[in-house]
Amino acid sequence: MAAPAPGPLPGVLVIGAGLAGSLLALALRERNQAVTLLDQGLGLSAGAAPSATALSYGVVPGWPLAPTPLSRLAARAAGRWRGLEQRHGALGWQPARLAALPPLPVSRVDGARLAECLPQALAAAGVDRRRGLALGLQRSGSLWQLDLQEGPPLQAAQVVLAAGSGCRALWPGLPGRLRTSWAGVLQLEQRPPELAADQLRLPLHFQRLALERRAPQVQARAWVVDPGLVPRGPGALAGQLTLVAPDGDQGEPDPGWMEQRLRESLAPLGLDRALQQARFHQTPVSFCAEGSPLAGPLPGAPGLWVFTGFSGGFAQVPVLAPLLAEALAPLPAEPPEAARRRLRQLGVWPQEPPGADRGA
Ligand SMILES: Cc1cc2nc3c(=O)[nH]c(=O)nc-3n(C[C@H](O)[C@H](O)[C@H](O)COP(=O)(O)OP(=O)(O)OC[C@H]3O[C@@H](n4cnc5c(N)ncnc54)[C@H](O)[C@@H]3O)c2cc1C
Repeated sequence: MAAPAPGPLPGVLVIGAGLAGSLLALALRERNQAVTLLDQGLGLSAGAAPSATALSYGVVPGWPLAPTPLSRLAARAAGRWRGLEQRHGALGWQPARLAALPPLPVSRVDGARLAECLPQALAAAGVDRRRGLALGLQRSGSLWQLDLQEGPPLQAAQVVLAAGSGCRALWPGLPGRLRTSWAGVLQLEQRPPELAADQLRLPLHFQRLALERRAPQVQARAWVVDPGLVPRGPGALAGQLTLVAPDGDQGEPDPGWMEQRLRESLAPLGLDRALQQARFHQTPVSFCAEGSPLAGPLPGAPGLWVFTGFSGGFAQVPVLAPLLAEALAPLPAEPPEAARRRLRQLGVWPQEPPGADRGA
């Protein structure tokens, strides 16, 4: 049995230091709220198992990808990234341009730069960062108790599940629209000469999004490859294989199989020599089959919140994190219901029944 908890943590305990947990932690610190941020591998640090954030293209489209209030808000994410950098220092955000696509406004967050800068920004903001694998969550009086693989459990009055694909294991009662896919990418150590440093080679339509939408209907493992090519640090990321499995098929796909499918599908890119040297990575990715992510309190679990299931986290997280922080920790001058009402209007509040009105 784990040793007793040393005493409740002050403020909010956020589980998961990927993009969602980290930007929420910064938004809570901007409200002067004490935050403990727990991650099994400290999220983006070197040597950690790759998270979705670590392998992301980081593209931030400057136009709405769908006719929904959330998409319209997410189209303003570049401004939020600029604001975050003004307050917390460089995070890797930079303007970009699309190759061979209409000249739409676009920017990106460089994953290598984010991995380098975010831990420093969190430390400077006063976030208490801890390393640990969360195993289970239970109610203990008026608190939540989080059991860890090693060391005494943590206790807190308010807990946020921001652990991406790790959320459901911690709270199996999460809404059914939250699912997990597997993504595979190739990492090139050096940027190929045909890709300029500010260029993004993206398919016109991402097949990943269509596959995620039909995830509840898949009867057997289904996969697609989106043949993108984007800079990352001094190198680049190529391709994105997305694999969706039917309900009940939780196993990690064979990396050898994933890599082979991805390499075969990328042959038309004509980067044979560069791709030969590239390293394959795969990671689980949480998403919501009906599109809207989850940001809000969980029904029947006072003090337990969720922040996960994004279809494009680099646009959605920076616009949702400040609203969720306001709902979690309203300032005395703020109308207590304002942020909650806004999150409901955006269709991300977990209590909303699936298919609730998300129109403009
Ligand atoms: C190849 C690829 C390309 C992408 N391209 C884009 C793009 O161009 N634009 C865009 O907007 N989005 C893109 N995405 C999606 C984007 O990366 C995600 O939406 C976003 O990173 C999700 O962040 P997250 O914090 O929710 O999850 P994650 O990054 O997965 O973070 C979850 C964290 O929780 C931790 N964790 C999990 N379980 C536990 C546990 N039990 N105990 C402790 N810690 C735990 C993990 O270690 C991890 O650090 C892409 C994703 C992939 C894979």
